[in-house]
Amino acid sequence: MKLVSDYFGCMVFNDEVMKNRLDPEVYNTLKRTMEHGRSLNLSVANAVASAMKDWAVELGATHYTHWFQPMTGITAEKHDSFISPDEGGKVIMEFSGKELVRGETDASSFPSGGLRATFEARGYTAWDATSYAFIKDGVLCIPTAFCSYGGEALDKKTPLLRSMEAINRQAMRVLKLFGNEEVTSVKTTVGAEQEYFLVDKQTFKQRKDLVYTGRTLFGAKPPKGQEVEGHYYGVIKPRVQAYMKDLDEELWKLGVLAKTEHNEAAPSQHELAPIFASTNIAADHNQLTMEIMQKVAKKHDFVCLLHEKPFEGVNGSGKHNNWSMSTNTGVNLLEPGDTPSENAQFLLFLCSIIKAVDEYQDLLRVSVASAGNDHRLGAHEAPPAVVSMFLGSELTEVLECIEKDLPYGAKEKELMRIGVHTLPKFPKDTTDRNRTSPFAFTGNKFEFRMLGSAASISDCNTVLNTAVAEALKQFADELETAENFETALHELIKRTITAHKRIIFNGNGYDDAWLKEAEARELLNLRSTPDAMPSFIKEKNIRLFTEHKVFTEREMHSRYEILLESYCKLTNIEALTMVEMAKKEILPAVSEYSQVLADTILAKKSVCKTLDCTYETEALNEISSLTAKAYAGVKALETALEETKKIDDITALSVWYKDEVLVKMATLRAAADALEGLVSADYWPMPTYGDLLFEI
Ligand code: ADP
Ligand code: MG
Repeated sequence: MKLVSDYFGCMVFNDEVMKNRLDPEVYNTLKRTMEHGRSLNLSVANAVASAMKDWAVELGATHYTHWFQPMTGITAEKHDSFISPDEGGKVIMEFSGKELVRGETDASSFPSGGLRATFEARGYTAWDATSYAFIKDGVLCIPTAFCSYGGEALDKKTPLLRSMEAINRQAMRVLKLFGNEEVTSVKTTVGAEQEYFLVDKQTFKQRKDLVYTGRTLFGAKPPKGQEVEGHYYGVIKPRVQAYMKDLDEELWKLGVLAKTEHNEAAPSQHELAPIFASTNIAADHNQLTMEIMQKVAKKHDFVCLLHEKPFEGVNGSGKHNNWSMSTNTGVNLLEPGDTPSENAQFLLFLCSIIKAVDEYQDLLRVSVASAGNDHRLGAHEAPPAVVSMFLGSELTEVLECIEKDLPYGAKEKELMRIGVHTLPKFPKDTTDRNRTSPFAFTGNKFEFRMLGSAASISDCNTVLNTAVAEALKQFADELETAENFETALHELIKRTITAHKRIIFNGNGYDDAWLKEAEARELLNLRSTPDAMPSFIKEKNIRLFTEHKVFTEREMHSRYEILLESYCKLTNIEALTMVEMAKKEILPAVSEYSQVLADTILAKKSVCKTLDCTYETEALNEISSLTAKAYAGVKALETALEETKKIDDITALSVWYKDEVLVKMATLRAAADALEGLVSADYWPMPTYGDLLFEI
């Protein structure tokens, strides 16, 4: 039997491989680069490239690629072979340091939102030495950042790395104030839980909507939905079990720490959670996980759906971003401590997050905005579109006592003095009972639950890291110049709680009463992508990102355009797919079935004029009127699409898609779904929800 420990990471150029294959001096320089983000000199790069190539060739690789994450949200690669001509018509395998650290690529087919001038179509990719290279399908993949020639970010990794630098800078200042002299760097850590659906490949292929858009645009609810809740944590079916086993093995070879897998709430829905890692590695690994999930599914005659809402009326898929901060000495900064001083430090970091989430709730909302996720947020299955934080009752009470100078706890009728008293011990399992909060404290980390399943985790972590960096910066500015550190700290924490406690909500986030309450608290409720996106380029947010050198203003405007463009494009494809399915499949099938009913009525009448034709007549009547509605729906949708051609402004266009196109799509769908309930199964032109969800 293969032991997991023997093959885990066998396709990764990891620390152990580096240590074995690199000259100690080269190894140490590389390690320093990885820890402190220094740039590699060419001789070191050459030595690393050569060792990497030998290793890859031994494992059967023939090509290499700079593996990057353009704004399309998926990964991109361009393969080059290692071969180089040698004497006598032979070849040798070569790979230089220059090829390792920097690649040139034609950037013109990737979205740039106007950043890439037309005369300069080249972009370049640069090795992110903090993320290990790996071999996938015989190709050595080098995780890289992707920039324009002017150095502007064209990808999702670059800003994430910049945000990690920003939070490192500010967290280090705060840690110094608490006397942590041995700490030299702080990183954020993430564990991204990934939800997905599996459907049968043959069934999938018969649905144009799934093939073109990844979600069903038509489909009546089956008699059995998820109301029985038999699926959650239920027994995993053998076919799915085999898939999961294969998936784990593929991920483990790539060094992805896939840890738990279980069924989710909806039928055919599952989840995979990895063990957490440094944020940029977690982001790379989540991209790999999504890719491998889809690849392995094909082998098992499945299709893996990563769309946020593949089925209406059935829970959609999300991604939970578990986030924390940790020092290079291995201390989790969100773990409440044992001593008064550790607790003071914990409370300050906690306050920085409370402040960050409150002040930048709009950016957090933007970071999860997409056409797909719009179908999910606020639909009583996922967190609402309102950002709030769950801290649990104990921690909330502690903060209240600090804020109001009230005694805490039954025993010690003493005031909580920060830096003097310790926090009570919170049993960990009392902290994670609220599954409806968008941003929940779970004992030693926060779980951000608004992400859609298809999203890159880079966006939300870029926002989170930068917003917390800003809060920490303000704290450090104030505390560094304080005359009495302890007093200043106490006052700062009290003040922060007072100013930002409105963001804390421990109740049921799915409850409509909460939306009213949130409004009273003046929290933002940005329901859709077009509602949310304009916040991204608000002045306060431009100031945040430019001050921390995470985005330039131009990069922000370009991202704004790219995101809205993608929203419009996706919605347009969906609308066109609906029109095609309605005209070519649904309406003709319905017409055909209507003829059957009409013929039956005529036939019956010819046998005997008084034969009862109630069913046929009423069905035909209802079908005819719904057919007319569906056809009118198609026409209205076509008109709404025609209008889009007259709108140049991307913001206005996105609003048109939301208010007109999506609304017309819903009207058409309602008529078609009602028809599905009346037309004979033999005539319905595509697999139903029942076929898709329960036939695995
Ligand atoms: P559950 O949420 O099922 O109780 P855990 O709390 O153990 O499970 O973890 C959920 C996810 O959070 C996992 O992906 C885990 O690796 C991740 N996680 C745990 N600790 C941290 C941390 N300090 N930073 C980031 N992610 C973490
Ligand atoms: Mg969880």
